[in-house]
Amino acid sequence: MPINPVVEDELDSLTRSLLLPSPGAGVYARTGLFEQVVEGLSSFITRHREPETQILRFPPVMSRSQLEKSGYLHSFPHLLGNVSCLQGNEAEIHALVERKEWMSELSSTELVLSPAACYPLYPMVADSGPVPAKGLMFDVASDCFRRESTHEVGRFQSFRMREFVCVGTPEQVLAFRTRWVFLAQRLAKLLGLPHQIAPASDPFFGRAGRLAAMSQLEQSLKFELLVPFRAEEPPTACMSFNCHRDHFSTVWKLFNENGDQAHTGCVAFGLDRLALGLFKTHGLDLQKWPVVVRENLSF
Ligand code: 5GP
Ligand code: ZN
Repeated sequence: MPINPVVEDELDSLTRSLLLPSPGAGVYARTGLFEQVVEGLSSFITRHREPETQILRFPPVMSRSQLEKSGYLHSFPHLLGNVSCLQGNEAEIHALVERKEWMSELSSTELVLSPAACYPLYPMVADSGPVPAKGLMFDVASDCFRRESTHEVGRFQSFRMREFVCVGTPEQVLAFRTRWVFLAQRLAKLLGLPHQIAPASDPFFGRAGRLAAMSQLEQSLKFELLVPFRAEEPPTACMSFNCHRDHFSTVWKLFNENGDQAHTGCVAFGLDRLALGLFKTHGLDLQKWPVVVRENLSF
């Protein structure tokens, strides 16, 4: 007789058809069906990219020292994933893996797992000289890792993030963010996604972090586009719209052509969450999705 049988709801069974779990919680193999929607979404986002945007695709790892310098260890140490390797010559490594506690022999490399697609961009922009008067726009993407403590549907440890980033004057960055809060709602409508925009804060660490989150909310630095996944639960953030003010420009010494400190901002699309939201809304059979949505996603 089953003990405490787990009751599966519609979202669970949908997820089970689309994402195959691996032994690591919050880590999935994605099916062809799921990927078809992620690819459609990626091209849809590309078609709405603003002109004169430079494209960069980052690997899932980035420089540890750059992430440290960005202040990540102060703000989000609980989410960080590090790349560690066995070091030594052939005989030494062979001896290490023979040990039961071989993991304790791992040593850190210069790499961490990227927690967001835009972190590696700012030092690169700073290296390329002052920001021109019209500002700079980028289209970046990477697989991201966050050591999440819960693994409800839609909270993955490993997920794909696409971002548009603006570097320029405070006015240019604010206008970029305002434009995208508006445009994102149009995109959600074109995809038939029920949604709402809400002020938000990042999951800063500890007591000081709670103050940082409050200040972020007070200054309206972050908004999210939320999509309902389960009627009885708060809706899920599928996109975010962020003003960093002079945080990254202070760290990386980013200046505008006129010598003023630059500001930065980014718009992030959580591709896996958006795809899940679409399946939740329209079902598993792509042929039954509304024609307009299918056209927008090119299938
Ligand atoms: P943010 O940097 O604003 O926390 O994240 C940007 C976007 O990445 C979010 O709006 C969301 O769509 C996606 N994202 C953040 N955390 C997770 C997660 O744990 N799992 C998944 N699938 N997506 C996430
Ligand atoms: Zn970003």
